[in-house]
Amino acid sequence: MLLLTPGPTAVPEDIRMKMSESTMHHRTPEFSEIFRQTREKLKDIFGMDEVILLSSSGTGAMEASVTNFCKKKALTVNAGKFGERFGKIIKAFGFELVELKYEWDTPASVEDIKETLLKESDIDTLCIQVCESAGGLRHPVEEIAKEAKRINPDITIIADGITAVGVEKIDTTYIDLLISGSQKAFMLPPGLSMIGVSKDAVSKLEKDGGKGYYFNLLTELKKQRTNTTAWTAATTLIIGLNAVLDEIRSIGLENFYNETKRRSLASKEALKAIGFKIYPKSPATSMSAIYDEKAEDVRKILKSKYEVNIAGGQDHLKGKLFRINHMGLIKPYEASWVLNVLELILDELGVREYKGEANRVFNEVYYKI
Ligand SMILES: *Cc1c(COP(=O)(O)O)cnc(C)c1O
Repeated sequence: MLLLTPGPTAVPEDIRMKMSESTMHHRTPEFSEIFRQTREKLKDIFGMDEVILLSSSGTGAMEASVTNFCKKKALTVNAGKFGERFGKIIKAFGFELVELKYEWDTPASVEDIKETLLKESDIDTLCIQVCESAGGLRHPVEEIAKEAKRINPDITIIADGITAVGVEKIDTTYIDLLISGSQKAFMLPPGLSMIGVSKDAVSKLEKDGGKGYYFNLLTELKKQRTNTTAWTAATTLIIGLNAVLDEIRSIGLENFYNETKRRSLASKEALKAIGFKIYPKSPATSMSAIYDEKAEDVRKILKSKYEVNIAGGQDHLKGKLFRINHMGLIKPYEASWVLNVLELILDELGVREYKGEANRVFNEVYYKI
C-alpha cells in the first residue's frame, strides 16, 4: 500500500532500520550527544533560536504553546479543523477567545486581523496555522505576524507549522513559537512534537516562568539546553529524527524544499489537466486538496484496486474532498503513479476518457521547471 496521506507520511526504509536498533537509555552520554545534534539541526530548519522537543503528537505542542504563553485573551483563525482546535484549547484552559472564522478554502485576511487587534487591544496571543491541513490552505502567516507585531510588539505569535516546517522556508522574523510534529514532513511515526522558539519568547519564558507540569516549557528548555529532557525522552523517535535530518542535510535543505515544490506544482497541474478542481484559494505546498462530489468513490477505488491511501475531507467536506500528500521524500514515480491511476478511475467512473494526460503533464512540469 502506498501511503500518501498528508500525515502520517511514509517512513523511509533506512530510517525504519535506524529505529529498529536496540533501545538506548535516555540518561547516557550517547543519547545526550544524539539529542544535542538533533536540536542543532532542528534550529537550522526552523530558523529560530531555540527548539523544544516534546513527547506528544502535534496537539500537545499546540496546548503547551497556549498554556505557557497566553495570559488572558487569544485571537485564533479558524479556517478548518486545526484552527478550530486552537480555539478549543484556549477555551479548555479558561482563556478568553476571539475567533475569526473563514470558509475552509479561504485564507485569513491581514486586514481582518489588524482590525480585530486594534479593536481588542487586550489580546495577548495570536494563534494561526501556517498551512491549515483541513483544506490544504496556506495562510499569509508571515505578513499577519508582521502586522500584528506592529500593532502590539508584545503579542505572542503561535504558528502551527505542522504541515509547513520541512516543506518550505518560513520567514520566522515575527513568529514566536513555530510548531511541528514528527509524522508529517519529518517522515517519522507519530509521537514527537517540536516547537521552534524565538529569542523574545525565550526571554518571556525566563521572565514570566513556565506553566503547568509535564508541558512546562521553561522546565523543558532548561533541561534541553543541557542536552537532556525533563522526562523520559522519546528516544527511538529522536534517533529517527536525527537520521532524517542527516538525510535532508545530505540532499541540501534548498534542494529538499525545491523538490517538494516541484512535486506539489506538477501534481496540481496534472490534477487540473484531468478536470479536477483545486479546493483552496491559496493552495499549500504540502498537499493537493481536491473538491469533488465523487471523492469517496475515488478514494475507495484508489485504495482497493490500486493500493494507494490518500486522505478524505472532514465535517462538512466529508465525502467531497480528497487530499494527496507531497511532504517528505516521495519518488517522482510514486507521485505520478497516483495521478495516473486517478485518471484511470475517472474513466472507470465514466467521467472522462483515459488519455495518459495526468502523467504527461506531471512529467512535463516536474522535469522542466
Ligand atoms: C496533523 C496536524 C496537527 C497535529 O495533530 P496531531 O494529531 O495532534 O499530531 C496540527 N495541526 C495541523 C495543521 C496538522 O496538520
